[in-house]
Amino acid sequence: MTLESLSLRCGACGHTEPLRSLAWRCAKCHGVLDLDGFAAAPPSLTDLAGRGTSLWRYREALPIAEPGDITMGEGMTPLVGAPGRPGVTLKVDHLMPTGSFKDRGAVMLVALAARLGVARLMADSSGNAGTAVAAYAARAGIACDVYVPADTSAGKVGQLRAYGAAVHQIPGSREDTARAAALAAGEPGVFYASHVYHPFFVHGTKTYVYEVWEQLGGRLPDTLVLPVGNGTLVLGAHLACAELLEAGHIERFPRIVAVQAAGCAPLAAAFAGGSPVPANIATQGTVAEGIAIARPARGAQILAAVRATGGAVVTVTDEQVRAAHAALARSGLYVEPTSAVCWAAIEAGEVEPAGTVVAPLCGSGLKSKPPVM
Ligand SMILES: *Cc1c(COP(=O)(O)O)cnc(C)c1O
Ligand SMILES: [Zn+2]
Repeated sequence: MTLESLSLRCGACGHTEPLRSLAWRCAKCHGVLDLDGFAAAPPSLTDLAGRGTSLWRYREALPIAEPGDITMGEGMTPLVGAPGRPGVTLKVDHLMPTGSFKDRGAVMLVALAARLGVARLMADSSGNAGTAVAAYAARAGIACDVYVPADTSAGKVGQLRAYGAAVHQIPGSREDTARAAALAAGEPGVFYASHVYHPFFVHGTKTYVYEVWEQLGGRLPDTLVLPVGNGTLVLGAHLACAELLEAGHIERFPRIVAVQAAGCAPLAAAFAGGSPVPANIATQGTVAEGIAIARPARGAQILAAVRATGGAVVTVTDEQVRAAHAALARSGLYVEPTSAVCWAAIEAGEVEPAGTVVAPLCGSGLKSKPPVM
């Protein structure tokens, strides 16, 4: 398989563009683009024996098999027991090189940018996606602009600047930042390395589930609990499950329980109301800034994916998030408040206690605003 055989295809109208066109959404209908022409060939446990401990061990399942020297050893984060709940396992993805699971997708996007000879790329983010893209862009020697909301934590902005990114702090909501980025993305020759729009990103985040599968000895848990804002982890997880099932490596899908903050829950509202598209909501604000996404561009895909697994989209309150964040810290796990939403949902009884459960800790506490206790 070569990059030339891959294309970007609009799920809404079927319009396609070559991968190297740098298109970030459908030129015809502004729909989201998916990767076309790629067939993952997930390696077996036997194939994997003895390979290096980064996500590149799943190379046959990835659209780029070899990252060159931009890799920082990302992937294969440990599984640890959850405080006081034997059936629940946590995957400590905040131990990734830039402190969040976004490295999984960012390394894939920047590896593509390097292959395409891109000189400058841009990203927008509430923080972690931007820091991940900026770090890999720095390694690849590609100039990088990052758009963030003006209230993004000083820790994340400092991290972005340290990687050498040009930081654009946009007043207003996360949607205002997305609009500013979309405007800049329209300029010729710009590669919009968007974790939301570019389909390469979920082909990176899917390695989260490949690792869980391998770490559990070639099995997946009954339930995957995942945070959901723009859905890159949920969609990546769903894609991995589909690929593992297709390859005969698992026998059935685990349930995906996706967690939103009650103060910004367009997907939970749609799920509860049986709607195929995100509800039109006004955000009330939430301590879980990393999932405060009022208009998820891939919302319809997320809802379809969760429903197909027999799962659910649930919500947690800020009070529950703060309590979960404190409980995790008291058990030695220092994550950002957004990373406590899955644990909050489990503690609140929003996840059926039957069977085995795996949930991620997505982002490090070291770069976030501490929650007000
Ligand atoms: C990005 C992020 C999320 C949410 O991921 P989506 O792709 O927006 O659904 C959750 N937690 C943390 C720490 C994040 O950085
Ligand atoms: Zn289209």
